[in-house]
Amino acid sequence: MNKIEFNNEIIPFRDKFCIPKNKNGKELIYFCGNSLGLKPKATDSYILQELNDWANLGVEGHFEAQKPWVDYHKTFSKSLANLIGAEENEVVAMNSLSVNLHLLMVSFYNPQPTKYKILIEQNAFPSDQYIVASQAKFHGYNPNDAIVEIKPEYDRICLTTDVIISTIEQYKNELNLILLGAVNYYTGQAFELKKITEVAQKYDIKVGLDLAHAIGNISLDFKQYPIDFATWCSYKYLNSGPGGVSGVYINKKYFNNYEIKRFEGWWGHDEKERFLMGNVFKPMHGAAAWQLSNAPILSMAAHAASLAIFDEIGIEKLVEQSKKLHLELRNGLEKIILKYNLKIEIITPKAENEHGCQLSILINENGKDLYRCRLAKSKCNSDGTCTTL
Ligand SMILES: *Cc1c(COP(=O)(O)O)cnc(C)c1O
Repeated sequence: MNKIEFNNEIIPFRDKFCIPKNKNGKELIYFCGNSLGLKPKATDSYILQELNDWANLGVEGHFEAQKPWVDYHKTFSKSLANLIGAEENEVVAMNSLSVNLHLLMVSFYNPQPTKYKILIEQNAFPSDQYIVASQAKFHGYNPNDAIVEIKPEYDRICLTTDVIISTIEQYKNELNLILLGAVNYYTGQAFELKKITEVAQKYDIKVGLDLAHAIGNISLDFKQYPIDFATWCSYKYLNSGPGGVSGVYINKKYFNNYEIKRFEGWWGHDEKERFLMGNVFKPMHGAAAWQLSNAPILSMAAHAASLAIFDEIGIEKLVEQSKKLHLELRNGLEKIILKYNLKIEIITPKAENEHGCQLSILINENGKDLYRCRLAKSKCNSDGTCTTL
């Protein structure tokens, strides 16, 4: 294998993370950042700061902590906006991903008598499937009728942009909403968001994105393709810790829409009047109006530790490096597959704009053994141990 070319600026960043080790103390090569990103070393001091402020200030920490808790969510606006090409008041960190998807569907899924269907990709993440099905039922529809899945052309696993667009065209009069994972969690395919958004908007169909596998992984620019809403989690590519806080994007064109349906809570209320404890909701201007509760400071502290790293290096340099690593891994794997005639298929699309760093492989033979032993040339014993052949 050729030596991988590294951007010199990126090399020192590896040392900012804790790398898990095997039993012999050797650092593992970590391929699971798509499930749980590694812990930045700085996370401890960020959380400790909040624990100390809590210890020393008690309730006064809301206003007097080093980063006052009442405004804590605001510290993320710039970093998050940079990651997706949005404006600062179009994003807010809050809740968790599945919760936010429900909240956003309350606002952006308004089924009409003939225009009530939701389009999703086949093999969407299970939680997303449950969410759209239960939302359809909530509005009185049968999910089998209200939900349309984009199916790949025969013998393919990934969707082509053509098949996505032709499905939209086919259902254009009935579709109310398109909800896509910007990067599919299973195949690692990144969708051509600009083309898809343009077609959807031509037919007055709203577009929402689940960025769980996209934020911190690929370049996103909502200024180029102004979708309606998006949400994500921060514990995958954003390295903000298990169950870490989610975030949402809401297109600014909705900020002056006072008819919009929304589930409301006191943290979305105009902050200048929040503590007057009034009984009529007056929304904040911006995505902040969608907040319900006061912020979970301890998990947000972990989020802050990680986003500081993204701010320092910038997503563009990370994406550039990740493309090189992806290609090198792909080329290396292809050679091994050919040499040993392995029944392994790389399913993530090869085109540079159709993937992030994830590389998905389909193992058509001895998949269980490979999974359990993590070694191509070993076999699983009945007691669960491995023997190298
Ligand atoms: C990881 C992931 C989720 C997980 O949802 P949580 O509410 O954070 O548990 C949902 N949807 C997609 C597409 C995911 O990749």
